[in-house]
Amino acid sequence: MSVLVVGSVAYDSVKTPFGEVDKALGGSATFFSAAASFLTDTQLVAVVGEDFDISDLDFLRERGVDLSGLDVVAGETFRWKGHYGYDLNEAKTLSTELNVFETFDPKLSEKQRKAEFVFLANILPELQLSVLDQVESPKFTVVDTMNLWIDTKAVELGEVLSRVDMVVINESEARQLAGEANTFRAIERIREMGPKFVVVKRGEYGALLSAHGNHFFAPAFPLESVFDPTGAGDTFGGGLVGTIARNGRFDEATLRQGVVVGSVLASFAVEKFSLDRMRTLKWSEVVARYQKMQALTRFDTLTIE
Ligand code: AMP
Repeated sequence: MSVLVVGSVAYDSVKTPFGEVDKALGGSATFFSAAASFLTDTQLVAVVGEDFDISDLDFLRERGVDLSGLDVVAGETFRWKGHYGYDLNEAKTLSTELNVFETFDPKLSEKQRKAEFVFLANILPELQLSVLDQVESPKFTVVDTMNLWIDTKAVELGEVLSRVDMVVINESEARQLAGEANTFRAIERIREMGPKFVVVKRGEYGALLSAHGNHFFAPAFPLESVFDPTGAGDTFGGGLVGTIARNGRFDEATLRQGVVVGSVLASFAVEKFSLDRMRTLKWSEVVARYQKMQALTRFDTLTIE
């Protein structure tokens, strides 16, 4: 089954303690699609300006991503500038230039309206709502967001949350959204806002899934060198929602598998700047790392009486 993603396709300028890049390919929908396309058919909906080099997305097209929903319009592509200190879990946004997103009004095609699995990647909540209005009868809808929209678009974001099945959110943003310092309480508050399933991303500490009345913790894959954490969250989302769509269901076992697939894919994404590692990644490498994650978290029944 296929996934529809709406989000940003961007040019990022990123500085980490290990180097910097300017005008590198980025965007929430780009990272998501690079990951989800390993698992399922992926349709991307976004907008870029005339300055965008479409050949930057050839690797996605080669992996079967349907880019017919990418509008190219007059103006400049969305730009994000971010900076990371030695704590790579927290990006500091230096600037966000919406540019062509200011006037973007996505019109879904017949095929896109029939999408069964929908990921509303981090982008203006109004655009997320417009997509929710147009999809006909999705089986499972997921939203990601960020502090900027929690601060500036609380009403619109609240409406999105009331209409989706799952939210995937950073731990600090979960606390901010819920107005709760404790993560588990924050999850409960967020659930009261609408989504039955809550996934909290905790950077190098992994991810926490709250679903079907249970909690599940997945660690992050232990990497010795993290180069650029940009896009880790969206890549994680692509692995998770891709797994759900591939299986066509969202029972607890599938969701747990999806969280681990997401963590594994994200661990590759952060090994190089921009989408560079995702361009060359092979599914066999993902499987090998998944197996290591399994070994890392397995423990026996307690035998001490
Ligand atoms: P992540 O590190 O997973 O949160 O995603 C980072 C990506 O999201 C970058 O490639 C940015 O281009 C994109 N991004 C950052 N801020 C925004 C925003 N306000 N709206 C849409 N996309 C954004």
